[in-house]
Amino acid sequence: MSYEARVRVHAVPDGAAGSHLSETVLAGAEPMPTRSHATSGSGARRVAARESRSVLGRRGASPRSRVSPGAGFRGAPRIAGLALVVIALLASITACGTGGDRSGIMVTTNILGDLTKAVVGDTAEVTVLMQAGTDPHSFGISARQAADIERSALVVHNGLGLEEGVARHVQAAASAGVPTLAVAERADPITYTSDESAGQPDPHFWTDPARVRKAVEAISAEVIARVDGIDAEAVRANTARYVGELDQLDRWMTDRFAAIPPERRQLVTDHHVFGYLAQRFGFTVIGAVIPSGTTLASPSASDLDDLATAIRTAGVHTIFADSAAPDRLSRVLAEHAGLQVQVAALHTESLTEPGGGAATYLEMARANTEAIARGLSGPTT
Ligand SMILES: [Zn+2]
Repeated sequence: MSYEARVRVHAVPDGAAGSHLSETVLAGAEPMPTRSHATSGSGARRVAARESRSVLGRRGASPRSRVSPGAGFRGAPRIAGLALVVIALLASITACGTGGDRSGIMVTTNILGDLTKAVVGDTAEVTVLMQAGTDPHSFGISARQAADIERSALVVHNGLGLEEGVARHVQAAASAGVPTLAVAERADPITYTSDESAGQPDPHFWTDPARVRKAVEAISAEVIARVDGIDAEAVRANTARYVGELDQLDRWMTDRFAAIPPERRQLVTDHHVFGYLAQRFGFTVIGAVIPSGTTLASPSASDLDDLATAIRTAGVHTIFADSAAPDRLSRVLAEHAGLQVQVAALHTESLTEPGGGAATYLEMARANTEAIARGLSGPTT
């Protein structure tokens, strides 16, 4: 086999750290090793390289707590002045120790950012690390963002291995006493059931609106508990209003998917991203082009063979890929396995800019539902 194709997976900007890890070489003669998460392989090395450029920890004495060794005193006024300085320094150090100088809510992914803003409203400042169009699997944090995390009153992150380039910084913040919330852990998580991620927890909970409801309630409770001076009543009112919108979305998705004949409720995606949706709404996951729960992995030649066989056997004619690069996946399948399939674009990992079709979670979920329902309801050939 002399086939070789370049595939851009989630070729999206990822904020201050620049784009990276977006190209994977699929070589028929020499298949790339597959892997899951940042444990080995070139992806892990690139993640490590990015992180080595970040400022880690930012622990130690703040400038405010340093006392000049040359400070002497001559007479009572000086002593009184020094005592005031010492008291001020002690107050400053105490404030650091209790988180008194921390403010605002830091959120990693833009999907969680949208949910958090929905419940917080204007009661606190919410900062979202990942810009629209960012792949959370490959996002690399900047030194400034790493420092900002540790100055937050609360860090809201997805967890369960999604943000591979951010996790150690969230852990560092937690060690420094910053409250952190791993939202996916509070959303009744499931594990992957196939391929190389089998048995590991699946972080993509947002494809099930019922899980998102749990997530929103967890975020709301944590914001009220952890952010000093928050207007709890306003947050509760925002939460109730948004949960109502989620329930409405859930009913609409249920109705829309019910229109797909049961034998056509079969999903092939770019990586294993719709496990929650499949379980919730009765879809069968036939396979994924990247047979893993992370976009940092890559398929081998035999993986693509297996997938092509599964697609033919199941009679699947439409597969789904992230809107960042849908055509490249179909090209790989066509070139490698001679398989012709339609590819429908979904918004899988990230919101878009306004006007991009998925500027909010609600808009994203509706767009994806519509694309899946249309893609699978068409006539089979
Ligand atoms: Zn993913």
